[in-house]
Amino acid sequence: MNDRADALLSNFIDRVAARHEGETEYLQAVTEIARDVLTIEKANSTYTKARILERLTEADRIISFSVIWEDDAGQVQINRGWRVQHSNLLGPYKGGLRWVPDLSPSVLKFLAFEQAFKNALTGLPLGAAKGGADFDPSGRSTAEIRRFATAFMTQLAAHIGPDTDVPAGDIGVGSQEIGVMARVWMQRALRWGGVLTGKPVALGGSAMRTEATGYGLLYFTAAMLDAEGETLKGKRIALSGRGNVSRFAARKAIEQGARVVTMSGRKGTWHAPDGFSPQALDWLVTAEGDSAYSPPEALELTFEEGTRPWGVPCDIALPCATQNEIGLEDAKTLADAGCRYLAEGANMPVTQDAIAHLARAGVLQAPGKAANAGGVAVSGLEMQQNAGFSRWSAAQVDGCLREIMCTIHDRLTSERRSCYTQTGAVDYRRAANVAAYRRLAEAMIAAG
Ligand code: GLU
Repeated sequence: MNDRADALLSNFIDRVAARHEGETEYLQAVTEIARDVLTIEKANSTYTKARILERLTEADRIISFSVIWEDDAGQVQINRGWRVQHSNLLGPYKGGLRWVPDLSPSVLKFLAFEQAFKNALTGLPLGAAKGGADFDPSGRSTAEIRRFATAFMTQLAAHIGPDTDVPAGDIGVGSQEIGVMARVWMQRALRWGGVLTGKPVALGGSAMRTEATGYGLLYFTAAMLDAEGETLKGKRIALSGRGNVSRFAARKAIEQGARVVTMSGRKGTWHAPDGFSPQALDWLVTAEGDSAYSPPEALELTFEEGTRPWGVPCDIALPCATQNEIGLEDAKTLADAGCRYLAEGANMPVTQDAIAHLARAGVLQAPGKAANAGGVAVSGLEMQQNAGFSRWSAAQVDGCLREIMCTIHDRLTSERRSCYTQTGAVDYRRAANVAAYRRLAEAMIAAG
């Protein structure tokens, strides 16, 4: 960046920071995008006059509410819930619900802001939102989770609807929880409607929605490798997490002949030097409690307590756990061990200094807003199926998902002229920000 662009950026961030004091994650997400698009805004007088980016940093509204419920011991529990309705410019507000104990408005605002760019990249009519609660579902009984989900939706129901705001799942919220919440909404509204996506298939959910984020990540990664004349076959993949995204990313990677060498959890890393077998993967994703830390010998898998998944040699890194999970030291380890590609299954999993280090080391990096857009894209397809009272086959949805991910990839490579790395490859991070910004800016201008 030159001095003028630097000054423009710091000026802009200072203004945003003054309105969103102390919201670290949110300011991190805004900085990442502003760095790439401010000069474009400055060069276009219509955009400058309309103050496009500054408007995009303000959510339409933030709803906050209490969630009061009763645990199995008969104790009253008090949690906080939020829904950040970021923008309904391109379609109904759309984005997941996350239940994690340390959730904050700053995290939700960053996620909703990122969602606006991600959803724009899918090309589908989707606005942007994100929500959740500071609730920890781990260790809770099914009955407790059902009571919490019911209390949560009772508070949120009035603010959502099939063409106003369509939440889905995210960390801590899976199809079972979505099923309970969808039913609560329908009972209150006295009508059927595709008000949440990621529903169980038996309740009107779409085939392949569960697999979509992980599979989509691999379709995008394959397209990125293809552009460099390579394939997934034989590549070593370091993957983090063992939740929904990781699980299906790993499955698709194995299916494509890659070797998944790591997966991880809060306590450490599972390492399979020759790659997870399908059996080892099935075992890990279904293992309960502490049994997961003692893999049966036959699976050729070890659990290494306290270690990170980035310490073993790999060609591709797929961070699929949570934000800021790859810091500078991890980035150095990855680059030194020969990693050449990174694609984000999680949202904003790489810190800014780590991004810069990986870029200097020549690692091609696909940002989450492009690489993990498969989940929300299939949510868009679920909305289409619900609105048309129809049901598509798994093959049909998978075909659409693959096409959407390849189209996103092509959209980014077509930004190549202004978005390239030192080695002349596409700068996917910049290209994603620029392409999404253009779609949002055009819509804002069209709306006067
Ligand atoms: N939570 C997912 C995401 O981060 C999916 C959102 C959705 O399907 O609405 O994109």
